[in-house]
Amino acid sequence: MEKQSDEKHDDVLAGLKLGSTIAARLLKFSLFLAVVLGLFIVAVRGYQDYKWLQDVYEQANQRTISSSIPVATEVLLKRDHVLAGVMARGMLNNRSITRVVLLNAEDGIFFETKRTAGELPASSWTEHLFGGLQTVIFPVRDADTKSGTTIGEMVVDLNPQVFVSVYKSRLFWSFLTTMFLAVLMAVVFAGMSYFVFSRPLLRLGNYLVKSDPTDDTRPLEMPPYHRYDDEVQLLGSVTIGLFGMIRRQVGQLRKARDELQDANINLETRVVQRTEELNEAMQKLEVQALTDPLTSLPNRRAYLSRLEEAILMWCRRDIPVSIILLDIDRFKGINDTYGHQAGDAVLVKLAQTMQEAVRAIDLPARMGGEEFAVLLPGEELEGAMMLAERLRLAFEQAEVEFGGAKLSFTSSFGVSGLPSKDGMTAINDEVAVQFEALKGRDVSQISKMLYSMADSALYKAKESGRNRSELADFHEMKEHANTVSSDN
Ligand code: GH3
Ligand code: MG
Ligand code: MG
Repeated sequence: MEKQSDEKHDDVLAGLKLGSTIAARLLKFSLFLAVVLGLFIVAVRGYQDYKWLQDVYEQANQRTISSSIPVATEVLLKRDHVLAGVMARGMLNNRSITRVVLLNAEDGIFFETKRTAGELPASSWTEHLFGGLQTVIFPVRDADTKSGTTIGEMVVDLNPQVFVSVYKSRLFWSFLTTMFLAVLMAVVFAGMSYFVFSRPLLRLGNYLVKSDPTDDTRPLEMPPYHRYDDEVQLLGSVTIGLFGMIRRQVGQLRKARDELQDANINLETRVVQRTEELNEAMQKLEVQALTDPLTSLPNRRAYLSRLEEAILMWCRRDIPVSIILLDIDRFKGINDTYGHQAGDAVLVKLAQTMQEAVRAIDLPARMGGEEFAVLLPGEELEGAMMLAERLRLAFEQAEVEFGGAKLSFTSSFGVSGLPSKDGMTAINDEVAVQFEALKGRDVSQISKMLYSMADSALYKAKESGRNRSELADFHEMKEHANTVSSDN
């Protein structure tokens, strides 16, 4: 358990630069502060020590010398060298005193003693701290005389080097202990901050990095347990709350997205369906627009459009085209005798017969009422006449059963067309020239002219007694052409 949490630390620590933890920074700052504070303490203590040692130095010298003066009086009065020696040894116990000299009026130097040279060499510090090497002279007076007559002098050499050494040593140890304590405090403080701040924060950081609140396949993990109910613990609790909110929001967003996707798919299929329905309806409409509803034959529009195409092929490629126009004979009589429905039945039968008789390439059509036509692309006039004749016979033989009665019908035919150059050999040259001249005309004009000529032939067939086929008279082509162009 403990090991696992350590591994987690390492993960986040790997992302941190060395020394970028709060603990490391605290260590740096507190070390600096500890050193500054330590130096200050050392300075204050050093100053206090110096003042104290100065006092001690002065008082010790004062005491030694003032206690020796009465003895010096005795020595000089009695001229006692032995006593002088005892006095001087006593004085030299004070380690700041390096020489003692007694002077009197008669002898000059009565007595002198000094420390062995080099025993305590004076350093530069003595000069700065305790006034350096000094020589003090005290008068020696006879206390018995009324005026206190001066009988000599005591000369004392002072060297404060002992105090300097004591002072330096105290300063050194004071510095050492203070600094040691300061650094120790800084390290302990920073170390504690690692356990208090950095480690819990790193754990929390690691938890944040690893948890994915949007992954709803796994339950939300609790933030790492923290023993103290402090800010870090609060941060963990806030985070888990936020994660919960994020998860709920993401769930709602996902649901909305799924619903939108479903709606889109439905919409797409509906659009596809509707488009298909529309296309079907349009195709139906197109067929309806070009088909006669009673006979299911192509209507006038379909016929004329195909006729114009065929005429274009004649103009450009010399492919012949012929048309047959036919009209049921005395149809009004059928209607009047057997009724309109009987007439319709005749129309349907005629259409069937026509469809059976023509080639797949030919186009039979209902032009309106009881008038029909056949377009024969690629057919010369002779072939068209033959087909007209065949149709005429087929109609003659056809029987329409209606209301128990057997109805028969006949039809008259008018044939017209545009022959190929080969087909024109049967026609005289004058007519051939007129056909050639047609090629410069507008296709719709040629179409109308052809139709008009077939209609004339049909009229002639009616006139000549009905149930006949008549070929258009191409000598009248000019008149028809003129009528058509003057119509426009
Ligand atoms: P003709 O031999 O001269 O052509 O004489 P007809 O009686 O056939 O000619 P007419 O033009 O006098 O009469 C044509 C009739 O066709 C008149 C009309 O009532 C009828 N008719 C036209 N269209 C339809 C139709 O769709 N159904 C039926 N039943 N009759 C129609
Ligand atoms: Mg008619
Ligand atoms: Mg008729």
